[in-house]
Amino acid sequence: MNVSDSERLEGELQNMGLEKIVETNPKRGALNADVVLVNTCSIRDHAEQKLYDQLGPVAARKRKGEDVAVVVAGCVAQQEGEALLRRVPEIDVVMGPQYVGRVNELLSSATERGGHQVVATDPTLIMEDISKPIRGSKVRAWVNIIYGCNEHCTYCVVPGTRGIEQSRTMESILEEVQTLADDGYKEVTLLGQNIDAYGRDFTPKRSFAELLTYLNNNVEGIERIRYVTSHPRYFSDAVISAIANLDKVCECFHLPFQSGDDEVLKNMRRGYTFDSYMRIINKIKTQAPDASICGDVIVGFPGETEEAFQRTLDLMEAVKFDNLNTFAYSPRPNTEAALWEDQIPDDVKSERLQKLQRLSIQHATERSERYLGEVVEVLVEQTNPKNSDQVMVSKHLDIELLFIRI
Ligand code: SAM
Ligand code: SF4
Repeated sequence: MNVSDSERLEGELQNMGLEKIVETNPKRGALNADVVLVNTCSIRDHAEQKLYDQLGPVAARKRKGEDVAVVVAGCVAQQEGEALLRRVPEIDVVMGPQYVGRVNELLSSATERGGHQVVATDPTLIMEDISKPIRGSKVRAWVNIIYGCNEHCTYCVVPGTRGIEQSRTMESILEEVQTLADDGYKEVTLLGQNIDAYGRDFTPKRSFAELLTYLNNNVEGIERIRYVTSHPRYFSDAVISAIANLDKVCECFHLPFQSGDDEVLKNMRRGYTFDSYMRIINKIKTQAPDASICGDVIVGFPGETEEAFQRTLDLMEAVKFDNLNTFAYSPRPNTEAALWEDQIPDDVKSERLQKLQRLSIQHATERSERYLGEVVEVLVEQTNPKNSDQVMVSKHLDIELLFIRI
């Protein structure tokens, strides 16, 4: 979602007549630019620390009297607000994720004559983005379908930083996807923090399954539709059957489970159990036996015992995920679990993470073996920048990238 926001920010800045500096090292780029924008993530602590590293050299330029504007966007901006200006007084604009489409007006009011520092973090209605994002790929594109999150998982900053759910209309999503198809894109990934909540803020309500069917049946030219991320509490049979049956929708289920232990899940406030999660997996395996199943998992949540951790491994054994995003719990500001006393020591977290990652790689390898000897359809994305004899492709069923010699 942050990558998608960055593409939109870049589009907005280009509309203002600014040009991107071609520089792979952001620190060196920041030494030459007239405007430096850092789009931030605060999902875990080390992501936040990166911001302060990035800002150091720009702030030093400004202290020397150079004319450079500094914008901090994204979730750290939302979370810290004015406090960021106290920590780094050289910043001109602090703007939360809901203001992505308004970066030009914020930057202008901070930099025009008589301008002043701007903090844009009040909740706001996300305006439809009419500008063209500068997309990072020519074949795959991100399309937001719902912003924000109304859940209250006790470890997570997202509801605080991205605000309440705001769905985009089915018609405006279709228009964006059709424009992408007309521009030659072959694949779209629909984005939402809790994609299964799509349309529940409308009257009459809409659903994610309805949207999938609507896009599948009305877009000409797009060959693959993917999505992230589902929430097991809201995941419906209608979504399983849409993914299993619609020809353009990839048979890839992204269903974060976070833990296999019921007590930990309750403390995370996730609203499902080991058994109810497995009931969903069994339905998926019955209706779409060849589908890929991916997930997210956190180790070292406060109070996680060795036995509880073992149940997470048990769940992995029961599912055998094609791919897992694995995280060590990171206490975050303004979240409930960060204040609990039964925090797990870092060395235990990292030991559990390593053990879990070994198992995850073993399962992913076992799952990949089902393709041995098979001929599958792939999407050619680009040539390998390091070897022009190779192209980079992704398979229909999961998002592993492969290099294939041509
Ligand atoms: N909305 C998705 C869901 O409900 O599963 C997840 C969105 S979150 C941006 C992506 C992943 O980051 C989560 O699934 C979780 O595994 C991880 N995550 C979130 N907060 C975390 C924290 N405080 N520490 C470690 N990992 C975290
Ligand atoms: Fe965070 Fe996802 Fe829970 Fe929302 S549903 S609070 S984004 S983990």
